Amino acid sequence: MTSLLNVSNLSKSFIQHQGFFRKKEVMAFAPLSFDLERGETLAIVGESGSGKSTLAKVLTGVMKPTTGHIRIDGINHSVQQHEKRCKQIRMIFQDPNTSLNPRARIGRILEAPLSLNNSELTPEQTQQRIEDTLKKVGLLPEHEAFYPIMLSSSQKQRVALARALILDPKIIVADEVLATLDVSVRSQIINLVLQVQKERGISFIMVAHNIGIVRHISDKILVMHEGQMVEYGDTLQVLNDPQHIVTKRILLNQK
Ligand code: ADP
Ligand code: MG
Repeated sequence: MTSLLNVSNLSKSFIQHQGFFRKKEVMAFAPLSFDLERGETLAIVGESGSGKSTLAKVLTGVMKPTTGHIRIDGINHSVQQHEKRCKQIRMIFQDPNTSLNPRARIGRILEAPLSLNNSELTPEQTQQRIEDTLKKVGLLPEHEAFYPIMLSSSQKQRVALARALILDPKIIVADEVLATLDVSVRSQIINLVLQVQKERGISFIMVAHNIGIVRHISDKILVMHEGQMVEYGDTLQVLNDPQHIVTKRILLNQK
């Protein structure tokens, strides 16, 4: 059986210009491979600068890979099929204060992915979809007329989740979405994610810091260190019996 998501030999390098003539190739992450099944959650952990955000962006098509393949349901998603992949795998960025357009009302923010992806919905259906999605993330129809600044940080992150959900994706990639939230609202967002996952069978890839949360919500874990995937496997197995020094160090730092 093919996995929902199959990533093989995926890598990303950047060319950094150092003055006029000198260029340096920086490998944000070296070729790596992994699979994800329907409804599963994969946690990506690692120190700052280890390549987590770049991996998230390449997976969701925000950036092009340097090498490798991304297959969803067995279909190879190349750069040409970028648009199709974008509908199936959506990204939530770390900070809603920068990822939500401050000059757009929430309704407009949620409508944008629908119109960008040439959805064949009528205006009435679009409106219905926006209202349903707001409800799903625990917001009210009234919020449609709000600007992001009028919302709390938890509500803003709910809007970001709604924007990811609105195209009915198979996979959502979330880059440290809990980092900017107070501890008290983190559990609300986690519960929301778990609920959405149960209802819709969506798979999640979460870049995360807190090992307690990772243990609680993820089925698989991928440990990054200086652009290398140093450990990958079943979460409990890896956390209970870490093989790599970096994994051991991450666990020790959180004791
Ligand atoms: P993390 O999310 O784990 O902190 P990043 O993926 O942001 O790590 O960064 C990994 C490496 O790639 C870092 O060395 C960073 O400087 C480099 N990098 C990230 N984005 C770019 C970019 N747009 N241009 C050049 N280098 C980048
Ligand atoms: Mg990052």
